[in-house]
Amino acid sequence: MADLDIPTARQLVDGDWTPAADGGELPVLDPATREPIQSVARAREVDVDHAVAAARRAAPGWAATSPSERGAILSRWAALIGEHVEELAAYEARDVGKPRSGGRLNMYITQGIVDYFAGAADKLTGVTLPTRTPDYFGYTRPEPYGVCAVIIPWNVPAVLTAANVAPALAAGNTVVLKPSEVAPLSPFALAELGRRAGLPPGVLNVVTGLGPEAGVALTGHADIDHISFVGSTVTGRSVMRAAAQHLVPVKLELGGKSPNVVFADADLDAAIPAIIASITENAGQNCYAGSRLLVEESIRAEVVERVAAGMAAVRTGPWDQDLDMGPLVSQAQYERVRGFLAEAPAAGARLVVGGEPATAAFDDGWYVAPTVFDQVDSDMRLVREEIFGPVLAVQGFRGVDEAVAMMNDTDFGLLACIWTTDVSRALRVAGLVRAGQVAVNQFHDAGVIGFPFNMQKESGFSRGGGYAALREYTQEKAVAVRLLDRPSA
Ligand code: NDP
Repeated sequence: MADLDIPTARQLVDGDWTPAADGGELPVLDPATREPIQSVARAREVDVDHAVAAARRAAPGWAATSPSERGAILSRWAALIGEHVEELAAYEARDVGKPRSGGRLNMYITQGIVDYFAGAADKLTGVTLPTRTPDYFGYTRPEPYGVCAVIIPWNVPAVLTAANVAPALAAGNTVVLKPSEVAPLSPFALAELGRRAGLPPGVLNVVTGLGPEAGVALTGHADIDHISFVGSTVTGRSVMRAAAQHLVPVKLELGGKSPNVVFADADLDAAIPAIIASITENAGQNCYAGSRLLVEESIRAEVVERVAAGMAAVRTGPWDQDLDMGPLVSQAQYERVRGFLAEAPAAGARLVVGGEPATAAFDDGWYVAPTVFDQVDSDMRLVREEIFGPVLAVQGFRGVDEAVAMMNDTDFGLLACIWTTDVSRALRVAGLVRAGQVAVNQFHDAGVIGFPFNMQKESGFSRGGGYAALREYTQEKAVAVRLLDRPSA
């Protein structure tokens, strides 16, 4: 990894790897061993001030750069990501605890996102407006906000860095990024590659620190023009309150409790592996994780048996063994998930498989076995709350109306997956479910380029993902002109 070494106890501000002003640092732990991998700077308010000031100084120059030039720099950035996939994947896999191949897949997605916005940078246009007479001319022009604060969690840090930073930069903003100190290494490595690709000093700054210190300082900063927050619904509420202090726009991508809904005519050979992947990928620590399984009663026993068999076969181990699933990311996450596991049987749920740490051989890490609970009631915490672990709650339904009612019986509205071979039913249910994204006969959005990462209800409000993300990072100016110089004829 020599080519992409991240300096100890540093952060990237104004183009330089700098220590925190007070020299503070935070350890980054390996979830498979609970041992430190390295340390990063512990940014506090003064460090956030420096980063915001650097971004502010860089903002006019970056906004004045031609969109094509911005696109060219992003394009070089994407190419460098492609050249460093293995190092980046190793950083993220070890940091988060995901298998190496999962890290690698994340890096290809990351590269694709940066490439997408590289190409989009010079396609951002306004419109000309109709006028009442030829004496007038009206148009809109998209303009960058200025300095964007981007705060992301630890579960897919590289993808979330790209998904927020790339459109912000493409649109002409500068950025102060605060990754989670739990998993900051792939964002740091990406930012270093951005620097090598030609991002001028101050255009992309990365500060690491605790949420209540660096996060609060950033979202409450008076010189920020836009806030993007990805994280839990609870923290999202605080971020929105902070944005209100200075009346800056805020984009929130929050938690989820996504259902896989399986009708009796579903292709189970396609559905079962996808259902298992949806809750074991990244050890269930995805906002879109398929944590609820709703099954038509007539096939419920068969589906539960097949899903349970698949979950029991999931191979668990540290990132470099590259099996199917790794440990949870942290002690806090481990204790939270174990809390759900302990509570569910007492609440009346039937444990079908899992429930205990994967195997004694992995006692050193924060491992939890893939777990299925059946006979779950809608009012149980298992169904109502985001667990963020490999824990699946199964409920039965009879007919479309009950399925839709159960799908919508949640505070969240991120993703819903519909499994049926009846296209009319699929489209009807897709129209009725209150979720920002719907997948039919697949889990998530595979195969569709630029799929908007939309949210509804308490999952937030965002139009990220595809081209819409570029709009998210621009404000629109409307211009009305009266033409005084009329042709003499
Ligand atoms: P948190 O909300 O705890 O933290 C997210 C980020 O916010 C971290 O960088 C955190 O720093 C920081 N933070 C914490 N408190 C504050 C604060 N008061 N002000 C500003 N920043 C703060 O989420 P997790 O890290 O636990 O991540 C898991 C959550 O993220 C899940 O709910 C998941 O669904 C959601 N998520 C949503 C996605 C989406 O697109 N909808 C995608 C991925 C995840 P620190 O780490 O130091 O606490």
